[in-house]
Amino acid sequence: MKELVQQLVSEQKEQMFADRHYLHMHPELSFEEYETSKWIKDNLAKLNIPLQEGITGTSVVGVLKGDQPGPTIMFRADFDALPVNEENDLPYKSTVPNVMHACGHDTHCATLMALARVMSSHKDLVRGTIKFVFQCGEEKLPGGAIQLCKDGVMKDVDYGFGMHSAAGLEVGKIQSGSGAISAAVATYEIKVTGKGGHGSREDKAVNPLPIACAIGSAINQITTETVSPLDACTITVAYMHCGQYPNIIPGEAVLGGNIRILNNDLMDPIIQKIDAVSKGIAAAWGAETELSIIKGYPADVNDKALTDVAFEAIEEMGYEGIHMEPSLGAEDFAYYAMEKPCTFIHVGGAVKDKPETYNPHHSKGFQVVDDLMPVALECEIAWYLKMTKQG
Ligand SMILES: [Zn+2]
Ligand SMILES: [Zn+2]
Repeated sequence: MKELVQQLVSEQKEQMFADRHYLHMHPELSFEEYETSKWIKDNLAKLNIPLQEGITGTSVVGVLKGDQPGPTIMFRADFDALPVNEENDLPYKSTVPNVMHACGHDTHCATLMALARVMSSHKDLVRGTIKFVFQCGEEKLPGGAIQLCKDGVMKDVDYGFGMHSAAGLEVGKIQSGSGAISAAVATYEIKVTGKGGHGSREDKAVNPLPIACAIGSAINQITTETVSPLDACTITVAYMHCGQYPNIIPGEAVLGGNIRILNNDLMDPIIQKIDAVSKGIAAAWGAETELSIIKGYPADVNDKALTDVAFEAIEEMGYEGIHMEPSLGAEDFAYYAMEKPCTFIHVGGAVKDKPETYNPHHSKGFQVVDDLMPVALECEIAWYLKMTKQG
């Protein structure tokens, strides 16, 4: 199987790199990826891959039916860029000021298009149906995945596969793991309403500032009292705004931060606790609180069986599979994984003697090398062949 996969991928290299460079030069912000979306549709049309109908916005789903029976498997690539001004000196540097593929989604999109080319030109390898899910808007809430799920993209899917480029991880190394690999996130904000007044008569006022401080410090205790020490969770108190003048007791204080947790089921109990604790503390001092929550993505949970197959594929292709610790970052691939068994891998895009490939994601100096794409594509094909009992 290894030689076949390597051969299929080597035929794609040149075009895949060219595609990535084109996409990198023409980045578009989340939910505004009109040109990229058109580029995807044009390319799928050239491959005679029909589109799934009823898909909202700039996302594009290609559906390739094989002649032989088998499961329906989806591969997903996101393709949005970020509001970052690229500072890299690259021949294919972003041509758009303040917009940059600073998370590597250009590599995801080019790799998935290469997979579509491989599979449409070797239809004997397609058992069942393959869905190529090109997803818009991963970087911005509510994310593109939730809409694709509402549009029914997962309804007829049996298994799903996603990948992300990883700066700081060497090419040839791939990280994944079973269970939760990214966090459920939410931001909270608490408005504390007291009673403003003169600095000389604090007894006649209700100062919201010390109350907000008490709430902030009580929030630190919620993790310990709500979440098992074996479940990772962090609740930050990231800001507090209140008052502006020495002799004025302010009438209002605002504090907020974010919640990140690996166990999706604990998000609501944590939110309820934040509400109860802030209300209780405020009531004791005669103030009132109002809690607002913006929920982000749920935790992404990798299916064990599918992830085991991914590790087999990685090993068989001669790469190093690394079992990763879950991260408290967020990824909206989670929505697909809540509907059907899925797996998600992080593919190394760094090279030892290129320090710039160790710059963080979302930074203006972010870089991953082209060579991560053939590695990702080999693993995708090998995983597919194994999932369809061909390897
Ligand atoms: Zn990102
Ligand atoms: Zn990303």
